[in-house]
Amino acid sequence: MLLVVETIGIDVGGTKVLGVALDPSCPDVVRAEQRVPTPEGGDGLVDTLLALVVGLSAPAARVGVGVPGLVDRQGTLRMGPHLRRLHDVPLAEVLTQRSGRLTVVDNDANCHAVAEQAAGSARGYDEALVVTLGTGIGAGIITGGRLLRGANGFAGEPGHMVVDPNGPPCPCGKRGCWERFASGTGFARLGRDAAYGGRLDGAVERAGGDPEALRGEHVTAAARAGDAEALTVVGQLAHWIALGLANLVNVLDPAVIVIGGGLVEAADLLLPEVQMRFSDLVMAGDRRPAVPIVAAALGDRAGAIGAALLAAEGG
Ligand SMILES: [Zn+2]
Repeated sequence: MLLVVETIGIDVGGTKVLGVALDPSCPDVVRAEQRVPTPEGGDGLVDTLLALVVGLSAPAARVGVGVPGLVDRQGTLRMGPHLRRLHDVPLAEVLTQRSGRLTVVDNDANCHAVAEQAAGSARGYDEALVVTLGTGIGAGIITGGRLLRGANGFAGEPGHMVVDPNGPPCPCGKRGCWERFASGTGFARLGRDAAYGGRLDGAVERAGGDPEALRGEHVTAAARAGDAEALTVVGQLAHWIALGLANLVNVLDPAVIVIGGGLVEAADLLLPEVQMRFSDLVMAGDRRPAVPIVAAALGDRAGAIGAALLAAEGG
């Protein structure tokens, strides 16, 4: 009889924490799953993570945790722009001590990339760029079949490339970062700008008549119904996404780009527009092999699955 060694993977998001238990040799099959709200502060987060490890009740020796922000090679969260009051938290050390299980901590988008490479849309690729477009933007860079980590473990933060030095302020402390324009948050802002300019009536109606309540999903719903003004805003978002991807491809030369995160729900509407604009923006777009831009396959479980896989191979 084969002994199944389970591993726990946990993905810390801006609003929810998702934990899974799985056998790392079968990352497609999640045995157990739990979701809880994201608490505020480092102590609350540690307690929540420990409760999930117990709650998943797996005979697991190892735990992986993905968090949004800069995580160093020792598993300390140095800075999380979307997690309030969390910086310099030695998560891996504290969790290993308190849970009694070897725990590795990594950037959440790195975890997404590992999962998509193992069991999703980047399967079979040794050179892949996985970009998550959600509240912010994260990325995991696969090169030579491995995750690119950089000197400190901080590689793959393209959301904070400055694309407009005079642009809106970013939670990271800078201005005009790519994620201010090309994330779900950026999409809502592009929509509100159009709405206050007197356009986008169809989408505003879907938001209850209040431009301030406008979200990306209202714009995509109007665009799907053929609303020309909503389609224009989708095109603006596609431009900003394609601009950042073109810059990244000029540097990294991946064979495929996988798009995950909340905006992937609009992939059918968005990705053809992004692909078209990308070809014009990347260097020598008509003289290089096409870089397919495809939707992630694993949905919102990808981060937790990837965290489990990193735990299985780490330590
Ligand atoms: Zn930033």
